Amino acid sequence: MNPIKGLLIDIDGVLIEDGHALDKAVDKLNELKSNYSIRLLTNTTTKRVKEIHQMLTRLGFDIHQNEIVTAPVAAQILLKHSGYTRIYPVVSTNILPEFEGFTFDEKEPQAIVVGDIGRRWDYDLLNQIFKPLMSGAELIALHKGKFWKSEGALQLDIGAFVAGLEYATGKAATVIGKPSRSFFDAALKSMGLPKNEVLMIGDDIDGDIGGAQHAGIKACLVKTGKYNEQFVAQSELKPDQVIATFAALSL
Ligand SMILES: [Mg+2]
Repeated sequence: MNPIKGLLIDIDGVLIEDGHALDKAVDKLNELKSNYSIRLLTNTTTKRVKEIHQMLTRLGFDIHQNEIVTAPVAAQILLKHSGYTRIYPVVSTNILPEFEGFTFDEKEPQAIVVGDIGRRWDYDLLNQIFKPLMSGAELIALHKGKFWKSEGALQLDIGAFVAGLEYATGKAATVIGKPSRSFFDAALKSMGLPKNEVLMIGDDIDGDIGGAQHAGIKACLVKTGKYNEQFVAQSELKPDQVIATFAALSL
C-alpha cells in the first residue's frame, strides 16, 4: 500500500460548523500541514477563495489561498489543464476574478462555465450559450443541482438549464462540484499527487466519501457536521475509515 502524502479535507462539518472551528480542528490541521500536502475542499460556487481564506485564517487555520479548492477553482484548474484560453463565464459576478488569466469571449469561447446567476436566466442567455456549444465549445457546470430551498420554498436550480442545454446540443456537460469525479481530479492535479497517495476526509457519505471512492481515492468519514448514523447505516457506501472528529485522525 502506498503511503498517504496528501489530504483532501472538506471544510464544512469537518473543520468548521456555523462559523466556528470544531474542537481541536485548528491544532490538528496546523500539525498535519508539516507532514502532508493539504487541499481544503468546498462545493461553494458563489464565494471567492479569498473570502474563505480570510474566514479560516480568522479562526486560526494556518493555510494558503492555493490550498483551498472551490468548484470555480476546480473548473479553472481543469480549463487550464485542457489548454483553454478563451472562456465564457456565466457565473456569479462575485467569483469572476477566479477566472482571471482567461480571455472572456462570448462569441467564440472554447468552454462555457455555468454557475449560479440567480434570475439572470432567460431565452436570450440560453441561446447565447447554445450557439458556441453547437460550434464545438465545451460545457462546464459548476454543479447540476435540481432545486434548493430558500425563503421556505423549493426553488428551481441550474441543473434544469444545464440539462436543457445538454438535451438541445446532444453534448454532456462536465459537472464540477462534489461528488463529481472532476472535482477530485482537479484537486489531485493541483497537488501533483496520484490518487493512491491521497486520503479524503469528509462528513458527507455521498458527496465526500462516495465521490472520493468513485475517483479512486480512499475516504475517511467524520462523525461531525451532517453525519447521520442511520443514513450511513442504510447507505451502500462504505468509508475506508470512520473517526469521531477531525482531531481524532491518525495516519
Ligand atoms: Mg461537509
